[in-house]
Formats: sequence, C-alpha cells, structure tokens
Amino acid sequence: MEKPSTRGSGCYEKISPYYRLGKTLGIGSFGKVKLAQHVLTGHKVAVKILNRQVLNDAEREKVMREIKILRLFAHPHIIRLYEVIETRSNIYVVMEYMNCGELFYHITEKGRLEEAEARCFFQQIICGVEFCHLNMVVHRDLKPENLLLDSKRNVKIADFGLSNVMRDGHFLKTSCGSPNYAAPEVISGQLYAGPEVDIWSCGVILYALLCGRLPFDADNFPLLYQKIKSGKCTLPSHLSVGASDLITRILVVDPIKRMTIPEIRQHPWFQHHLPGYLAVPAIDVLQRVKQIDEGILDEVVKIGFNRYEVIECLQNKIQNEATVTYQLLCDQQFRVSNDHLGADPGEASGSIYSSSNCIGPTTSVPVHSMQQNEYMNPKEISPMLQFPSVERKWALGLQSLAPPHVIMTEVLKALQRLNVCWKKIGNYTMKCKWLPSFPSYPGNAPNTTLCMNGFSTDGPSIVETDRVGSGSDNAVKFEMQLYKTKEEKKYLLDLQRVNGSPFLFLEICAAFLAQLRVT
Ligand code: ADP
Ligand code: MG
Repeated sequence: MEKPSTRGSGCYEKISPYYRLGKTLGIGSFGKVKLAQHVLTGHKVAVKILNRQVLNDAEREKVMREIKILRLFAHPHIIRLYEVIETRSNIYVVMEYMNCGELFYHITEKGRLEEAEARCFFQQIICGVEFCHLNMVVHRDLKPENLLLDSKRNVKIADFGLSNVMRDGHFLKTSCGSPNYAAPEVISGQLYAGPEVDIWSCGVILYALLCGRLPFDADNFPLLYQKIKSGKCTLPSHLSVGASDLITRILVVDPIKRMTIPEIRQHPWFQHHLPGYLAVPAIDVLQRVKQIDEGILDEVVKIGFNRYEVIECLQNKIQNEATVTYQLLCDQQFRVSNDHLGADPGEASGSIYSSSNCIGPTTSVPVHSMQQNEYMNPKEISPMLQFPSVERKWALGLQSLAPPHVIMTEVLKALQRLNVCWKKIGNYTMKCKWLPSFPSYPGNAPNTTLCMNGFSTDGPSIVETDRVGSGSDNAVKFEMQLYKTKEEKKYLLDLQRVNGSPFLFLEICAAFLAQLRVT
C-alpha cells in the first residue's frame, strides 16, 4: 500500500506561553503536526498547524465552528481535541498525542494481521465512528493514515470533522487524499455524504487489515473508480467465513443495502471477544463523560485556578486554560488508571524538547494517582456538578416506513407534478432544478426514460427530464437523497440546496412535501 504525497508549510511562530513546541510528527495536507508539551501539566500533546492564508474568512469560521463541536467529544477511540489557538498567521489545533504512529505503517510493516488483532482494531474503529455518527459528525476520510496508535496498540481516529470542513468547497479540488477508501457514491461526485460513506471506508480498512492489501486498487483513477463502483473484490481463501461475510456485507455498492453500525455490532465476527467497555452503547459513554471529576477539579484548583470559575466554564463549555488543563488531567488519569487503554505512564514527562523551543515557564505536575477513570459512576458525583444534557436532533427531512422503491416512485411523481427537472446520479440520489416560472406539466416534454435500477420493476414507469443543466437566474438547484435511518426499515429523504434563493428553496420544499403521498 502506498501513500499519496502531501504539501507542508514553512516556519512557525510561538503559539502560547502554555506550550513548548517540539519535533514534527507528521505532515498533513494543510501543514505540519508537531509534538508539544503543556507546561502546566507536563502532558505531551500534538499540535496541528493550519496556515490561515489557505483559509478564507468563511472557511476559517467553519473550521472554528467544527472545532468547537469536536472539543466536546470524549471517546476512548477518538483523538481528543483540547483547544484551538489562533494567531495572526496560523490556527493551532491542540490535540491528544499518539506515540506509536499511524495504523498505516503498522500494516505495511507487518503485512496482513492475525484475525484477532485485526478484529480488535476494527472493534475500536467502529465504536469510535459510531460515537461520531451519534453526534452528527461524518468523517468522510477514514483510512489507516488517519488512525493512530498508542503504545498499547489502541487505535484512535484522527482528523475527525476537520476533514469535512477541509474537503468542502475548494479543498475538495485541492485535496490529494487517496480515493481507495472512498465509497462508490462519493467518487460518483454526489454531494451527500452520510454515515454510510464512513461504513464503506471501514469495510476497506477491515479488508486491508486482514489481507495486507487494498480491495480496490489500480494504476489509474478511471480504472480504480470503475472497480470501486463495481464493488467486486477478491476475498483471499485465508479469511475466515465470518470475516468474509462481514466484508461482503459492508462493501455493498448500494448504500441503502450496506450494513449499518447497529448491524455490524450484531455480527458474530464483530461480537467475538468484544471488550466490555465497547459493548456499552456509545450514547451511555457520552452521558457519563458529562460529569465533572472532583479529584481532577482539585488538581486544577491546586495549580491555581478558582474552583467555581472552573466549574462554571466546564458547564458552559468555555475553552480557557483552566478547562484545557482539566481535560488534559482527565486524559492523563484515564491513561494511568485504565489497563486496556493505558499509554506509558512515563509519557507525560521526559525531555524531548530543545531549549530554543521553550516558550513559557516550566512547571511540572505529578501524574494523577486516583484510580477512578474518566467514565465515572454518575451516582458518585454531586448533582450540582452535572453538565446540562445535550438535546439530540437527528432527522431533518422526511421520514418514511415505506420501501425505498415506493418512496422514490412517489418522489418522482411529486417532482413531475411540480415541474421540477431532475437528473438521476445514483439509485437514490438526484440533482434537481426548479424554475419558479416554469410552464406547468404536461407542456414539459420528457425525453429520457428513467432507469429504475434497484427499484422494484412493478413500480409505475416514470420519465426523467434532463434540463437540469439549462441556466436561469432564479433557478433553484438542490440534491435529494434517500438513506437508511438507524431505526430498522425507516428511510429518510434529505433535501440539500445547492444554489438559488433559500426562500425559493423552502417554497419548493413545502410544495414538495405537500405533494408526497407516502407515509
Ligand atoms: P491531514 O488532515 O492533512 O491528513 P493529519 O491530521 O492526518 O493531517 O496529520 C498528518 C500526520 O501527522 C498524521 O498522519 C500523523 O502521522 C501525524 N499526526 C497527526 N495527529 C497526530 C497525533 N495526535 N499524534 C501523533 N501524530 C499525529
Ligand atoms: Mg490525515
């Protein structure tokens, strides 16, 4: 397996008195990732340096918004994001440091892994991805280069969410990421990228772990795309029946038929030796990390912060030195006290820095010795210290219990009645265009027969109009995608505006919903 080349940037300014910058850990598409030491706790961190010049104002805001969400994430298999420091020229993203490199190198060094080791990685990856999906973040760039290892060979997902921001707009065009892990619907250029694109990538990763090579590979992009779109890959005979079955069910071209995370969780191959802490649904983990650990709070107070201010800032999710110190101590304690996730206790100290990189006073804080871990029992915590619960709103769009082909048939009929032109770009995805002054049907002469691939053949014959490309000033363009929800046999129809007036878009959405006759 080979990696695509990346572009880095030049020299860096000092970032804050609280961090001492160290060696370069890796070079990403948008700048370097460096090792650093948090002066107050002695904790090692990784700092991703994004050059502000490559971001316009809107993109910068988007990056910052996304980072704010990611800062709230706490999962044993997702890299923690501690804080973001903005200077005139750069944005510094301070995150958890992983000291054993990329899963990519582990695979290239070892070749194919034993099933037990591969399963252990896969379980951790799926649980991390599940947590993000539950929090409405889709990675869209899962690959072994973005999966990092600690000294106990635990894997954590890096680049979460940021890759989403980066890959929108012009980043998509300049990105040099590998398409080998991309789902067929992604390489087909569909705007929509839901949780199922990550599941496809997990299937490719599982294949790479078990076989030491990629399921879809070619010397040129057209051939590679053709292979991915066909979904056909060879399963070596050394694979167990369970592993082959799981890969086959994940690498399904039709996203509607592709396995979901709850289905993967139920699969016997996945369930084998699933550690107890991963058998707990991610939502519970999320609830538990919302408690404040009083022991760690005491440590933060000892460093010199005001107890009540720290509590207030934690409860209001405010990023400042006190809350970052609290989070770093939480992680330090979690590593020390947890066997299956523990990194070297010595990791938090030791000198890796040249004195020229020291940009603040040096204070060392002993590694926290409490034996509770970050996921403590809520009953042990004073109710005063509970974080407010987060409301989860998942389904934007139209949900239906009808079979997908029935929904799509009704969708197309409704579009026809509303004189919306469409172009099918996948079995369940369409690009649509609506001209508010368009003459009403049947004057709109259809000229292409809609291919009903994947739909029931007994559905009514519907025609596809192909005027999506024709221009008009007040045209509203949008994409429509049907996908599976987490609930069994329930589908969600998602509409996304591509361009045109947002008000006209809402108008056509309202008219469309009124026209639909599925329940
Ligand atoms: P990009 O978004 O450009 O792909 P990444 O965030 O993946 O950049 O970082 C590039 C490389 O830097 C990674 O592949 C890895 O080798 C290294 N790296 C990134 N984050 C960390 C981290 N938290 N700990 C250790 N190394 C890291
Ligand atoms: Mg990366």
